[in-house]
Amino acid sequence: MEKQVERILRNLTLEEKIGQMTALEVSLITAKDTSYTTEKLALMPEADLDAVIRHFGLEKKYKAADMVLDLTNIDMDRAHKIYDLSLDIAARGDFQLDEAALGSLIGKYKVGSILNPPMMCAQRPEVWNELIRKIQEKSLAELDIPCVYALDQMHGTTYTEGGTLFPSAINMAATFNRDLARSMGEITAYETRACGVSWVYGPVMDLGRHQAWTRQYEGFGEDAFLAGEMGKAVIEGMQGTDLNDIDNQHVAATLKHFFAYGIPDNGLDRTPTTISDMELRERQFAPFLKGFRAGALTTMTNSSIVNGMNGVANKRFLTGWLKEDLDWDGVIITDWGDLENLRVRDHIAETKKEAVMMAVNAGVDVLMVPSEYSYGPLLKELVEEGKVSMHRIDDAVRRVLRLKKRLGLLDQPITQIQDYPEIGSEAFARKAYQAALESEVLLKNEDGILPLRQGSRILVTGPNANSMRTLNGGWSYTWQGAGQERFTEKFNTIFEALQNKFGAQNVRLEEGVSYDFGAAWDKEKEPRINEAVKAAAWADCIVACIGENSYAETTGNIADISLSRNQLDLVKALEATGKPVILVLNEGRGRIIYDIVKEAKAIIHTMLPGNYGGDALAELLSGDENFSGRLPYTYSAHTNALVKYDYKACERREVMSGVYDYDAKTYQLWWFGEGLSYTTFQYGNLAVDKTEFSKDDVLRISVDVTNTGERSGKEVVMLFSSDIYASVMPDNRRLRAFEKIDLKPGETKTVHFDIPASDLAFVNMDGRWMLEEGDFDIMVGDQTLPIHCVESYIWNTPNIPEE
Ligand code: BGC
Repeated sequence: MEKQVERILRNLTLEEKIGQMTALEVSLITAKDTSYTTEKLALMPEADLDAVIRHFGLEKKYKAADMVLDLTNIDMDRAHKIYDLSLDIAARGDFQLDEAALGSLIGKYKVGSILNPPMMCAQRPEVWNELIRKIQEKSLAELDIPCVYALDQMHGTTYTEGGTLFPSAINMAATFNRDLARSMGEITAYETRACGVSWVYGPVMDLGRHQAWTRQYEGFGEDAFLAGEMGKAVIEGMQGTDLNDIDNQHVAATLKHFFAYGIPDNGLDRTPTTISDMELRERQFAPFLKGFRAGALTTMTNSSIVNGMNGVANKRFLTGWLKEDLDWDGVIITDWGDLENLRVRDHIAETKKEAVMMAVNAGVDVLMVPSEYSYGPLLKELVEEGKVSMHRIDDAVRRVLRLKKRLGLLDQPITQIQDYPEIGSEAFARKAYQAALESEVLLKNEDGILPLRQGSRILVTGPNANSMRTLNGGWSYTWQGAGQERFTEKFNTIFEALQNKFGAQNVRLEEGVSYDFGAAWDKEKEPRINEAVKAAAWADCIVACIGENSYAETTGNIADISLSRNQLDLVKALEATGKPVILVLNEGRGRIIYDIVKEAKAIIHTMLPGNYGGDALAELLSGDENFSGRLPYTYSAHTNALVKYDYKACERREVMSGVYDYDAKTYQLWWFGEGLSYTTFQYGNLAVDKTEFSKDDVLRISVDVTNTGERSGKEVVMLFSSDIYASVMPDNRRLRAFEKIDLKPGETKTVHFDIPASDLAFVNMDGRWMLEEGDFDIMVGDQTLPIHCVESYIWNTPNIPEE
């Protein structure tokens, strides 16, 4: 491989090298298609009109024979149909490739990577194939090097019409099911590669540790171990097993966003984070480390600022922690417009030229600029002036060429849709459904109100009751998730799924509060709470579907994390009717709902469960399926109590006895890892093969889990550890292992965990990994086991070496 890379590198000019280091957005080479205006459609003969209708898959709605116009005698009905057709086509976001612009992008600027979907929305695989084919033909003709196309296929194939959309990553975390995460990775890769795209900007490894942060749902929750495990499974699924020779069913993954992005001090996206080195290494870096060790081929920089430095220019992290410490030979790409942020937003670089110099010298290999050609010439000047070394440029280009080689693009740059018969298949859909099912978390079930009896009269209410957009959230067919309706027609909203399950006559809808889907994501229409209260008189129970409308990234910033006033009022009014209220939360982050929790009889957190989220919920509510999801983040009760489950000893406490009555009272509604089932589980016989250990030991731990209830159920068996006293304030507890098991009523399984002693180490005051002599507790279920470390050890490497 390296020989071929060197051979190509040797023949490249400096401009060509810089082109390989550039990623630009597809809108530079595409334009809205103007072939289907009303006027043009009106002039078409029947056969052409028929072809157009078929091309856009609109045969169900239109028949050419019924709408072709006689221009000498215009029939208004037919003219209206033509008009409607032109609107439908416009909404489908069809585009034309601008051949001249493509010529310039590749011929003149020699750009080696393109990103994003045309018209910023999902496209049919055939359209993708055709687009990529043309790009590759041009790239090979001009550069003799194929382009690597990249997409944010964030939870399944976000940007492939007819592909498989999974629940969001936060839900995948809630499944605690590595196999489902791996399947998501595999299916995403297959359907992405089917389109001719070979690079996916995901998974997101950022720990969402601020409850207000807009991007929590894109990642795997608050815990470093869970995020690492789920991310690793996705990466393995996406990239397959041979990382140097990725086949045409797999893609390159990108760990986002390197790193410490998910904990902005003030909760707003892309704002500064102040964080200790211990916290950085021990928690924020850990899931990335696992991802790189699992072979992730690329990573994207963090667009925010950590301890004063923008992620794109952080040499210590990019070159130090990643490339040098891990001897990693992959590609670092900037995030969208990071160079501009460095200058305009953060005032770190004074000029564009300084910005590009800082980023490349910090270790960035590809510049997602993303719609500007000006950075390439500036980088060239910097090389000529000796401010960026040729050695650094060659290193970056080698990495890009290596990626292309690894992806097999140098040998076969295009794929054909007919080689991918499984795209959008039933089998793929079943996986997405299963993921939805295992991700919805039962948080409260008072008086056994659930499962709901067949024949119950159910009022479905709330702004999330009848919307696919809210079930899918952001990054679903479009970036913000807005305008996704035409892709989701065939799927069931919560209301529709409940009608299907409980009978249309037994399920009524009265939203009470509705989003204004035509306006900004957080706008609601004038509430109709009285109408909902009136409708409740008919019902035996009320399913109140509340939460958030879809958003993505900075657009979703909020100043107040409380649930909207209208929605709180709606639920309070419904609770006051005395009818049992079942709260269904459908939101990208935990909005504060304290005031409506006590009176609710049952609470289910669906997060963003995707296209099958409504169906899954109906099965769970009916009791035909059992809940097995667990919360991937702590759900706080109040806005000033955003504590995580692994809080530090003094971060959360009742009044302390002693010379000063300290307290730090904060209330959490539900901790990370919580979740109920229709059955019950009992834990017993927690045992370890040695109670005294030192650094090279592996603790072999086992525990018996019994299903003590009446029905089958899946249980997530989680193993936590606590360091009782440590020279740096210890965490309350940390997840160290988990397994999801399936148990029939009365069945017992013994679960085994092998925990290397080094997993119990922490980062000490000198920034070194240390295992410290002293007492620890191991906790599984309600069982606790004391163990003792007999001697301290400090590693002299930045990371604890892999086993
Ligand atoms: C996001 C990234 C994404 C990129 C390209 C950015 O705004 O932060 O996560 O990969 O856009 O679409």
